[in-house]
Amino acid sequence: MGMYDVIIVGGGISGTSLLYTLSRFTSIKKLLLIEKYGDLATLNSNSKNNAQTLHFGDIETNYSIEESRRVKRDAQRVVAYCSMLDNRTRAETIQECQKMVLAVGEEEIEAISRTYKSGLRKLFPGLEMADRKQIGRLEPNIVRGRKKGEVIAGLLSDTGYMMDFGRLTRLFAQDAKLVKGKDVDVMLGTRVKGMRKQAGTYRIDTEKGEYRARFVVFATGSYSLYFAKSIGIDKNLSVLSVGGSFYISPRVLNGKVYRVQKGGIPFAAVHGDPDITNPHITRFGPTVTVPPMLEKRHMDTIVDYMKTFDFDIPTFISLEKILFNKDIRRIVARNIEYEIPGLGRYEFLKKEAARIVPRLRYADLKKEGDLGGIRPQIVDENRRSLVLGAGKIKQDGAIFTITPSPGASSCLGNALKDALYITDYLGEDFYRERYTRELGRINA
Ligand SMILES: Cc1cc2nc3c(=O)[nH]c(=O)nc-3n(C[C@H](O)[C@H](O)[C@H](O)COP(=O)(O)OP(=O)(O)OC[C@H]3O[C@@H](n4cnc5c(N)ncnc54)[C@H](O)[C@@H]3O)c2cc1C
Repeated sequence: MGMYDVIIVGGGISGTSLLYTLSRFTSIKKLLLIEKYGDLATLNSNSKNNAQTLHFGDIETNYSIEESRRVKRDAQRVVAYCSMLDNRTRAETIQECQKMVLAVGEEEIEAISRTYKSGLRKLFPGLEMADRKQIGRLEPNIVRGRKKGEVIAGLLSDTGYMMDFGRLTRLFAQDAKLVKGKDVDVMLGTRVKGMRKQAGTYRIDTEKGEYRARFVVFATGSYSLYFAKSIGIDKNLSVLSVGGSFYISPRVLNGKVYRVQKGGIPFAAVHGDPDITNPHITRFGPTVTVPPMLEKRHMDTIVDYMKTFDFDIPTFISLEKILFNKDIRRIVARNIEYEIPGLGRYEFLKKEAARIVPRLRYADLKKEGDLGGIRPQIVDENRRSLVLGAGKIKQDGAIFTITPSPGASSCLGNALKDALYITDYLGEDFYRERYTRELGRINA
């Protein structure tokens, strides 16, 4: 039975960014990452399954200014990490791309210009309001075929990136292993079955035997709450699996085009994006569904979802309250329509994709069944609301991390917080100077 300082369960971007941070910037010596599938980043961190946006908070109109500030800081850490890669690896992992939020109609234009003036402009000096003519120059297909009377405006960002987060996941693991004087193991194809605390250490039970650690982190996406509950930690939280899929078309956009989303809604409205792995297509999505499973396309996770979801009165009261929000109700209703075979594609075209590219036709759009993943949204039964952003439970030498969007963009920021907590708990050192030099200020 191996003994480690820290065991991280989950080989997505949350797990490997923490592995890298602990290995490179702390005095912790013995680290183990355990992943149940045969490769890293096969689920939400895989570039097929997310929107590949490095979120900065400038075109995400559903964020508050505080959230935008935090997301910007975290995204800058990712850019700083990528700047240390060789040219070829960097080009495969991160690419600059044009990025804007498109407002259609007076109400949306009014909303973005209000947000812009009330703080965004100051936080993002390179962000500019754009009129129809400017938009047409950058993204001709947004303007072509659009009714003359339909007014549009946009917010153009000067810092857009598309990312292969799956590749970044693998790079973090690779770099963590290269740090001299460290003992870093990555075990693939090994499912963690459970854990228990005994004599001050955690015993992690896997298909391949038992491992011990002074500290354990579950970075297992939706499964993190499942594991927390399995050892009796509940905190009155439940998880709502919000699924998201993508439609693809031949390439019709030059960059990322987001739509206006209301504040308080945890996910972005449908947007159009290029694909870093395929320059010939545009992706439209993600859609919003609520599949009763913890991992998309993995039916065997339905039973575990049932164990994680609290079937009690406070959960249902919370859901009723969440659905009381008319914008959430509208999103859910629309997205139910998008799931209807045949008709769904037509409705998606009319209500979403053609709002961005008016000339797009039914035959141009294809639903890709194997694209998309699950954003685990935490339902807080005490507050009777959805938790916006990452959910984290810290207790007694363990962290359980639940990361919906923009979890991939915030991976290094989340890892930093966890690493500071872990080093403090274990009485180890955090190399602040090295961190600041390479990935940015700690309390910036
Ligand atoms: C449709 C969609 C679009 C998104 N778009 C963006 C975007 O544009 N930008 C952005 O920043 N974020 C985006 N996100 C969010 C982002 O993808 C996630 O926040 C991020 O990938 C979460 O990473 P993770 O490592 O926490 O989880 P995951 O990538 O899901 O990894 C969890 C890992 O834990 C492993 N695991 C689970 N159970 C066990 C077990 N018992 N034993 C061992 N291993 C286990 C799994 O196999 C998996 O590898 C999007 C998400 C979705 C679904």
